[in-house]
Amino acid sequence: MICCPGGDLCSLANARSIPIADAVNKKFDDLDYLYDIGDISLNISGCMNSCGHHHVANIGILGVDKNNEEWYQITVGGQQGNSTTIGKVIGPSFYAEEVPLVIEALVNVYIEQRTPEERFIDTFDRVGVEPFKQRAYAGRDKRRSPNSAAVSEAKTAASSAANETITKVANA
Ligand code: SF4
Repeated sequence: MICCPGGDLCSLANARSIPIADAVNKKFDDLDYLYDIGDISLNISGCMNSCGHHHVANIGILGVDKNNEEWYQITVGGQQGNSTTIGKVIGPSFYAEEVPLVIEALVNVYIEQRTPEERFIDTFDRVGVEPFKQRAYAGRDKRRSPNSAAVSEAKTAASSAANETITKVANA
């Protein structure tokens, strides 16, 4: 994962990056599962300056400002190297607490559809963006309900990640 400093440390940011990275890391904290997922790049930028190179990651997260609120646009299918490709935007932005759930949904599509030899990007190139898009937005109304258990859980995790990050930065 590559993550720019984002709104915690950069005055140009539209949104924070580090708490998002923390929340995604916490969602994927099982090393055996990570090993099984294999080669996948996930980059985060806090604004269109793209210091985190989100646009050329297999999964990219871009912080955007909507009415002074932090939102996150997700791209899928980017890659670097000899076959450099810009990721495709999957649709409307997500709010911070949704992001780990959306990343999990995207990875699950890969796990379900991959053939034994395929990396994430290979599966994406074969099946296209549509299955990823559909899964990312599936159940979104439920996730967006302010009283839903998923949202409360995600908000608690994101808040805790942000506090830990700020403490680490303050103590550095
Ligand atoms: S991408 Fe934007 S927020 Fe992130 S370090 Fe660069 S200028 Fe700052």
